Amino acid sequence: MSDFQLTINGKGVDAERYFEVINPATETLVAQAPDAGRTQLEATVAAANAAFVSWGQSARSERNSHVQQLMGLLQKNLESLAQLLTQEQGKPLQDARDEVGACLMWCEAFVHTRLTNKILQDTPENRIELQHRPLGVVAAIVPWNAPLMVAVWKLLQAVLSGNTIIIKPSPYTPLTALKLGEFCRQAFPPGVVNVLSGGNELGQWMTSHEGIHKVSFTGSTNTGKQIMASASGNLKRLTLELGGNDAAIVLNDVDVAAVTEKLFWSAFYNAGQICAALKRLYVHEDIYEALCQALVSYAGYIKQGNGLEEGVAMGPVQNRMQFEKLCELSRSVQEEGGRFLCGGVVTAQQGYFFPITLVADLADDSRLVSEEQFGPILPILKFSDVDEVIERANNTPYGLGGSIWTNNLELGAELANRLESGSAWVNQHAAVRPDVPFGGAKQSGIGVENTELGLAEFTRVQVINVASPAAVSAN
Ligand code: NAD
Repeated sequence: MSDFQLTINGKGVDAERYFEVINPATETLVAQAPDAGRTQLEATVAAANAAFVSWGQSARSERNSHVQQLMGLLQKNLESLAQLLTQEQGKPLQDARDEVGACLMWCEAFVHTRLTNKILQDTPENRIELQHRPLGVVAAIVPWNAPLMVAVWKLLQAVLSGNTIIIKPSPYTPLTALKLGEFCRQAFPPGVVNVLSGGNELGQWMTSHEGIHKVSFTGSTNTGKQIMASASGNLKRLTLELGGNDAAIVLNDVDVAAVTEKLFWSAFYNAGQICAALKRLYVHEDIYEALCQALVSYAGYIKQGNGLEEGVAMGPVQNRMQFEKLCELSRSVQEEGGRFLCGGVVTAQQGYFFPITLVADLADDSRLVSEEQFGPILPILKFSDVDEVIERANNTPYGLGGSIWTNNLELGAELANRLESGSAWVNQHAAVRPDVPFGGAKQSGIGVENTELGLAEFTRVQVINVASPAAVSAN
């Protein structure tokens, strides 16, 4: 038994089996999470379809009022949610509070975000109106890096556009999502928001289920491809927010001291486990050594440790698999001729702590540069020619974000235009907001989240085309 239950049709439900959720800072048990089985999935899909009948017809003002009730509960439980998030995910407590705060900010923005119908023609003969209809039941499949925020984004877009939803958190970080489900039992009518925790297999059952009409997925590109294949049975609609390998290009006119801190956190916020983190840093040769040294010295001030401890600015990576992947990438740096500026050496200790690692002098085809590292290890690469570095930045199957750093804003914007990415920033990175669409180019995804464009992804277009009897007889 556990304090955590599934949320199915407005009720808390126990599972037949449970799995362990491990605190990545201590490698000890946080809690047992319910492992939803097939029967529970079937009951949830049936409940979500039944709830859709009236929820899909409900007024937008009514849906907003349920979201506002959820906001109240998130606000009231902010501190306990943040503590739980730090324990299951590893991030420092202040960052966990910021994640819950971001959920509130997204709720606030989305109650004011509307999809409007459009009159395409209005004449005595013909009235043609474009309307947005909800799709039905949405499966929301969520990763482990920002488990609460990503779940809330999907929930808001799905339910405010009239769908019902089944949220499946990552098996590494299911607890805050299960709490979210608990709040939704109070805030929404039964069956509108359901939460099922379980393994990857549960995700597969959901993406191939005929009673589910859309998948909104955030996770790795490989899993995204599998989901696309398995969702084809009933032509589910898809939004895929996938991996990235974002480049930042720093021109030689920047003030090194002024950009160091911003560049550091663009790469290392959440211990580098951000889809749109800066993952390849290209620096002009004139300032290369100076910026490398400035980053090393800034890294020296950062305290890594258990996120619940005072003063800790960076936690562990979230799970052993990811930790081992980083160790392997670190070994590849040695084999491929990279120069460790700091870090690189992992000491045996409790918790999945990988040291802040900065690497110089690698080639673009080395593993650390060409693969998504998703952790606190960053390659710093030298360039001399702007056209050449844009080509190098674009030479990847990924296309999530990218950035240009310069005091020449006109040139910055012009170069940003040449980046093949869903978002291209100047003098900032990963600036994601509810009022700006976010999505990936190339193999970083399909579709966008946020704004009315995000809402539109959870609807289908219906055209109502009314001809007057006179116009019909004239035909
Ligand atoms: P993952 O792909 O391993 O898992 C994500 C979710 O998919 C989990 O809930 C998992 O249980 C589920 N899943 C796994 N296999 C499945 C399958 N075959 N069918 C259905 N569901 C399945 O990703 P992760 O390791 O949890 O997250 C890290 C990755 O996510 C990184 O690549 C990161 O860049 C990406 N990410 C992208 C964004 C974005 O917005 N683009 C945001 C956050 C993370």
